[in-house]
Amino acid sequence: MKCPYCGHTRTRVIDTTRSAQGVRRRRVCKACERRFSTIERAILTTPLVVKRDGRREEFEREKLLSGLRTACARRPVSADDLERLVDRVEAHIRQMGKAEIPSRVIGDLTIEELKALDPVSYIRYAIVYLGLEDLEAVRAEIDRLLGERE
Ligand SMILES: [Zn+2]
Repeated sequence: MKCPYCGHTRTRVIDTTRSAQGVRRRRVCKACERRFSTIERAILTTPLVVKRDGRREEFEREKLLSGLRTACARRPVSADDLERLVDRVEAHIRQMGKAEIPSRVIGDLTIEELKALDPVSYIRYAIVYLGLEDLEAVRAEIDRLLGERE
């Protein structure tokens, strides 16, 4: 760690605290003895998404959001709600610490989050995501959902 005042490379850590920005360290330069602070943060990378057909692609936040916006159209779900939902999904997959992740895992996380947020949007999303192809399948899912809420 280089001293920002004199450029000397030997510094001593005098205090370490954790903050929302990361790990904050108070340091003192061994040459000029001036003090300064550094923030260190772990860099978490978002894993690559492995599609059903085996193709890999970058995690596309906007793509996930646009599917959710469609499912939530004219429902009492704000743009902020959806941003936060996607934040949680993204944080979750980062914390798994994997280089690659199946698209199904992201779909499952998203659908669980949506179920908690708004059941009608959830059913709309499930029709596409779970591939519910007929009224019977949709009714079975609604029954299952109503059963869980009781
Ligand atoms: Zn210095």
